[in-house]
Amino acid sequence: MGREKPIPDPSSALGRLAQELRRGRRSVRKSYDELAENTAFSATTFSRAAAGKLLPRREVARGFGHACGLDIDTIDALWLAARQETRKVSGARRVARAPRTLSVTDMPQLCRALGELRLFHGEPSYAHMRKRAAAAGLKVSTSTLQRIATSEQAPSSRRVVRAYLVGCGLGERTIADWEQAWDRVHRRYRAAREREAQLRELNQREAMVADRPDGRVSSPRAVELLKESGFVQIERYRGFNRPWTVLCAGCGISSRIRLAYLLRHGPDPCTNCVARESAVTTAWKALTQGHSTLPRVRSESLSRARFVGVDQKHGHLTLLLETYDALTRQVIDEEKDWRHWLDNEVGRALRRREHVDVIVASADTH
Ligand SMILES: [Zn+2]
Repeated sequence: MGREKPIPDPSSALGRLAQELRRGRRSVRKSYDELAENTAFSATTFSRAAAGKLLPRREVARGFGHACGLDIDTIDALWLAARQETRKVSGARRVARAPRTLSVTDMPQLCRALGELRLFHGEPSYAHMRKRAAAAGLKVSTSTLQRIATSEQAPSSRRVVRAYLVGCGLGERTIADWEQAWDRVHRRYRAAREREAQLRELNQREAMVADRPDGRVSSPRAVELLKESGFVQIERYRGFNRPWTVLCAGCGISSRIRLAYLLRHGPDPCTNCVARESAVTTAWKALTQGHSTLPRVRSESLSRARFVGVDQKHGHLTLLLETYDALTRQVIDEEKDWRHWLDNEVGRALRRREHVDVIVASADTH
């Protein structure tokens, strides 16, 4: 048995507790190792309890007392006095005010606040907390309560938060506030986890089409992929999921896309292309069905041509027709009134000046 260091403040309540524990150990002539044998505690824990620097847990003080046959009531009284003293010195100052729910914005802050709440409400033992929670129909283990109180573990659910706070002896209103705080923090915590998952998925998708060894798409490769989707770049490529200003190879209209989105959803039909095609188709129908301002005879001639489709390349808009007789062909080629009407009608629908080229294929058998 080596000599122990002197107790820092023997006249304090904490010092008196340590003195009593040391006296007990001397009376049974045991080392800390021997003392700790057949107890739930380690020799280090016991030696720390008798050091007089920090307040041991109550169970430790009692276990120590038992191990050397001391009067447990005396140990309890000394321990309570020491705890009151400690709380006056440090605990009370550290947690002068109950933590507020509004100041809590993330999980670590919430955990810290839960620890402080317990101190503020008289630092109930974990066993006592568990009993209180159980009385309210909430099951929770003392080890869970302890890990939460010491920020080793975040509460896994709203119910655990409630059990912990019921255990601290908080009122229903305050508990409801803290449950809300937990909801808020947990939502953010989950959202952050989801963002991480999305980023992982995005990286995987990029790696699938990447040409660089680090799993990234190089600028030339990006331009190539863009071209396959029917677009050309008009702005430098900055990243797989970064906005990119590009030009539609069909309608020639620029838009902001993300390569990640484009590849995921396939070569999306460009909305401008769709609108332009629809405008030409609708105008052609109006023409051939006599809904235009042109003479009826013109509508009748045009209606003998077949509408093949609308072609778009490099911004040019082309109406494709097919004719079966020379007369219709002649009207289409030589009369300009319906062409003006078509340009105006398409321009009106798209709200900008448009020029529609016309290509006619002759299918007449002469
Ligand atoms: Zn387009």
